Amino acid sequence: MLIPLIAGNWKMNTTIHQGVDMVIKLRELLRGVDSVEAVLAPPFTSIHHLSHIVADSPIKLCGQNLHWEKSGAYTGEISAEMLVSAGCLYVIIGHSERREYFKETDEMVNKKVMAALRAGLRPIVCVGETLDEKERGKTVSKVKSQVKKALTGLTGGALKDITIAYEPIWAIGTGRNATPQEAEEVHNTLRELLFELYDTDSIKNTRIIYGGSVKPDNIDSLMAQPNIDGALVGGASLKAEDFARIVKFQSE
Ligand code: PEP
Repeated sequence: MLIPLIAGNWKMNTTIHQGVDMVIKLRELLRGVDSVEAVLAPPFTSIHHLSHIVADSPIKLCGQNLHWEKSGAYTGEISAEMLVSAGCLYVIIGHSERREYFKETDEMVNKKVMAALRAGLRPIVCVGETLDEKERGKTVSKVKSQVKKALTGLTGGALKDITIAYEPIWAIGTGRNATPQEAEEVHNTLRELLFELYDTDSIKNTRIIYGGSVKPDNIDSLMAQPNIDGALVGGASLKAEDFARIVKFQSE
């Protein structure tokens, strides 16, 4: 039985003080929650500080990005080893904002996945189609190709540490989420793809989570779908009460 994963992506929001206030609230709100993995991806500058605050709580920390090299002359970049030393267990890779604004390619995403796994981090790999691709009926081919390329070279043993986040780009930050049925269809297709690529045992712990305008009022119906194993939450993760309600979703 897969434990659902609910991850909050704070993006480029919160100073260290704001992050601390938020996590102190969240720690209280999530006291005793053990049936869901709650993960937060704050800005790099806050991670180490927050690692002390989440130490006795169920909250795990996550980087929003990483570079595939361990160290070197890559001004402004952060390695997997640095994220681990700051207190991260997870890392988001290939978010659509990174792909769009920072020109990340599928090949870069694959290198980042490899580097994360080598360092002991669990990658949350984001895939998703644009509105134009959706309207042209290209959703399935786009996300399948992104997943295949992201996982190139990975053997089955690595799949237990991988989470795939299906995030339709037209639903991110727009208030327009995929319906639970639309999301379920894509998740089911991605699950079938994993079955084609790996054996059943290797992928039994691989989560496929949904992201795109997840809110307290739509999480329950999303999580009621058999192939939705959690959520990646942007805007609503910046309010402790909303994020706590999402983590404590009610399965129908
Ligand atoms: C995201 O950035 O991954 C995201 C899903 O954002 P939002 O929840 O705000 O749509």
